[in-house]
Amino acid sequence: MGDKPSYLKVFFLCGILLTVMFTGCIEKNQKSENAEKSSMPEVQMDQPSILPDWKDGEYHDYPATKQMLNDFYMDYPDLVNVFSIGKSVLNRDIWCIRITNEKNNNDKYSCLIDGCIHGNEWEAGETCLYLAEYLLINFGNNETVTNILNTSNVYIVPLFNPDGRQADERWNENGIDLNRNFDVHFGRLRSNNFPLGKLFGFIKVPMIKHPLRKNNVLGQVSTNCGRHPFSEPETKAIRDLAESLDSKDFSFYVNCHTAMHFFGSIIEVSYKPEYKATKNEIAVLDTVLDWVDETTEYGIFYPDQFSITGMGVANHWVFKEFRIPSFVFEILSPDYDPMYGHGKHDHLVHWMKTTLPVLMYLLVNIKALHDWETPDIEPCLPEGIPPSPL
Ligand SMILES: [Zn+2]
Repeated sequence: MGDKPSYLKVFFLCGILLTVMFTGCIEKNQKSENAEKSSMPEVQMDQPSILPDWKDGEYHDYPATKQMLNDFYMDYPDLVNVFSIGKSVLNRDIWCIRITNEKNNNDKYSCLIDGCIHGNEWEAGETCLYLAEYLLINFGNNETVTNILNTSNVYIVPLFNPDGRQADERWNENGIDLNRNFDVHFGRLRSNNFPLGKLFGFIKVPMIKHPLRKNNVLGQVSTNCGRHPFSEPETKAIRDLAESLDSKDFSFYVNCHTAMHFFGSIIEVSYKPEYKATKNEIAVLDTVLDWVDETTEYGIFYPDQFSITGMGVANHWVFKEFRIPSFVFEILSPDYDPMYGHGKHDHLVHWMKTTLPVLMYLLVNIKALHDWETPDIEPCLPEGIPPSPL
C-alpha cells in the first residue's frame, strides 16, 4: 500500500500533464483552422444582390430558352437540374429547371412558378428565366438568395406552352386554352368556355367572338377549354409535376401571364364547400396581395371584374388539389395586349425588374406560406427594385 501524499502527488502531476496536452490540442486546432481560413477566399454573404445583365429586345423563344437552361446547368451544376416534364402536341419538350443548393441535403420546401401557358404572353416566360438567373448569380454572395436555395427547391417551367410560344398564339396546337383545361369548374357556360376540343378530330376552334357582348373583357369571347379536364399533354405534364411536388413540402404556386397588370389569387371559390378558402387562408392571401399592392406598381385582382369562378384555370386547380397559396401574376400593363391579340413587346428589362420583388417576397416567406401563416419577411432587394413605373 502506498501513502496518501504520494497518491496525491501522482494525481496532481497527471492533472498538469492532461491540462497541457488538452490546451495544446486546442491551440493546434485553432492554428490549423486559422490557417485554413486564411487560405480560403473570403465569402462575403452580405453582398448586395446583382441583377441579370439583360438587354431590351432580347427575348427567348423555345430554342433560346432551351439553350439558356442548358447554359445554367453547365455554369451552375451544383445548383441546377434541368429535365423534361412531358411533350407538347408538336412533340416539343416542356422543360423544367429546379434550382437549389444540391449540396445541402436538409428537408426543403418546394414551389412552382410557370410562364407562357398562353404562348403569345412572352414576358411571362421571360420572368421565369430572369428569376432563375437572379438566383443563380447571387448564390453564395448574397445572404437572402443563399438562404433561399439552402431551404427551397425552386421549380420553374418557363414555357408551359412551347408550341404556342413558337406560333406566337395564345392556345396550344389543338386550339385549346390551356388555362381553361384544369379540373376545377371545368367548362362552365357562365365562364365563357365551350368544351369542343378537337372537334371531329381536326377542326380547331380556339374561340367564338360575341360582337354584341361587351360587358367585360372575358364576356366578349368564349374560349375552347378542351374535351375534358387534362385532355391536353401540356396540362397533364404540369399536373404530374405538381403532384410529384406534393410529397416534397409543396408551398406555393405562381402561374404567370400578361398583360392585365395585376397579381391575384383564388377568387370566391364557392361552388362547392370543399373548394372554399377558410378565413385564415383568405387572411394570408390578402396579406400577400396587400403587400404587392403597396410595394409594387401591380394592382390586385378584384373578383367582381369578372363573372367567372375558377373555370378550369391552373392556380385554382392547385389550390383545390394541394390547398396551398396559389397565384396568378399578370405582368405588363393593359396597354400591351388585350388578352387575345398579339401585343407589343418592349421595355423587357423594366418589366423583369417589376416582377422580381413579388417573386422574391414569396420565396423569402416560403415557410410561412406553406404553414398558412402571415408572410411578414421583407425581401432584401438591390437598389432600383422595384423600378419607377414607365
Ligand atoms: Zn394569359
